[in-house]
Amino acid sequence: MDLQHWLREAARSNQEWSAAFGPYETHPSLRVDDGRFGEVFGEFTERLKDNYPFFHPRYAGQMLKPPHPAAVVGYATAMMINPNNHALDGGPATARMEREVVADLAGMFGFAAHLGHLTTSGTVANLEALFVARELHPGLGVAYSEEAHYTHGRMCGVLGVTGHPVAVDDRGRMDLDALEELLRTGRVGTVVLTAGTTGLGAIDPIDRAVALREKYGIRLHVDAAYGGFFTLLAGAAGPEGLAEGPWHAIARCDSVVVDPHKHGLQPYGCGAVIFADPEVGRFYLHDSPYTYFTSAELHLGEISLECSRAGASAAALWLTLRLLPLTAGGLGGVLAAGRRAALRWSEMIGGSEVLKLYQPPELDIVSYYPVTDPAALSAIDPASERILQRGMAGEDPVFVSTLRASDRAFAARHPGVTADADGARILRSALMKPESEGRVEWLHTRLEELAATRT
Ligand SMILES: *Cc1c(COP(=O)(O)O)cnc(C)c1O
Repeated sequence: MDLQHWLREAARSNQEWSAAFGPYETHPSLRVDDGRFGEVFGEFTERLKDNYPFFHPRYAGQMLKPPHPAAVVGYATAMMINPNNHALDGGPATARMEREVVADLAGMFGFAAHLGHLTTSGTVANLEALFVARELHPGLGVAYSEEAHYTHGRMCGVLGVTGHPVAVDDRGRMDLDALEELLRTGRVGTVVLTAGTTGLGAIDPIDRAVALREKYGIRLHVDAAYGGFFTLLAGAAGPEGLAEGPWHAIARCDSVVVDPHKHGLQPYGCGAVIFADPEVGRFYLHDSPYTYFTSAELHLGEISLECSRAGASAAALWLTLRLLPLTAGGLGGVLAAGRRAALRWSEMIGGSEVLKLYQPPELDIVSYYPVTDPAALSAIDPASERILQRGMAGEDPVFVSTLRASDRAFAARHPGVTADADGARILRSALMKPESEGRVEWLHTRLEELAATRT
């Protein structure tokens, strides 16, 4: 699609809609001269060049990529109206779009019923899930794996509940024996399971954890902020297909969080929280003297902790999902390419003399480290850092990221590496752009060159 054309159409449709209300004058205090704007805009765009090329396959670092052009157009078009999805009165059209996309997300996870809404981030979405969990299990703690996103420990502090980190196995997945031991103490009311950890993409054994839900009367919350959309590849044919177990088990959990601004092609400011039991809406109830005069049933402002929220986020997601629906052949095709890229690259790393695979990719994150002499954590750490820095400099740049692995985590995967430090940085590449698939050979060659240059 032609982005410039559709951005012009966005402005045109806004003018057409505005014109229907009759003429009005922009106040002189708001007027800006085009010449002056041009000057400032020049300075502005110059400053924006101080960014990494997230859009380009050269960028194989953090979970970052630009939104799909459809999301850009959807966001810009709605933003010109600037609806606020806090309340139905803030923007009926985008509030309805939000309900529709949330229903789509709930459907993707197989929820029979649901209550949910978009949030500005995965952090807020998880906070809301843990808030509801606390209300349902007052006085009890929350368990999450040692590899879970740091937000869970932090938000337990905010909510005044005790957080219990649980040990992980040699692939970074929650150890259910360790979890059960903790559950037997009776001190835990909610377990957070991660479907795709931020560091390595590890998927906790959600299917096996479901059995513990009944046995210990716990709540299960799934943090799928990064991994959620990989549900679309559960049981898919081809190398990108994922074991269905954990993904299908999400439907039997109590809540789930997914970030459309990570793998849903959206600009930042778009997370989502979905509850299986619509009754939890009661925990949000409050009296507001400011809003709500047209809606009878619970609306978005009544089921979220945030107040003002961009209706444009819902609009962008709605437009995107109409074009790239939540199916294996729609958005699933985008994730499949990244996953195939990760599998292919890790295979090549497996045959390398200068790079070693840290662990096989669970989703689309490749983790690896340079071969050093001696093979010791104290040598791997600076070598990883050197590759990161050297990669970004020079004529043929490549952008990767580092991840800190503890000595214990390293020993579980590579017992031959001397643990002469409490951990080491390794290299990590999130291949979340489908274009990466066509650049795997280049990526590998470039990283091998960097790893082979020892000084
Ligand atoms: C990114 C992420 C979060 C935090 O989400 P934000 O949108 O960055 O606030 C939480 N959990 C997991 C697993 C994540 O990957």
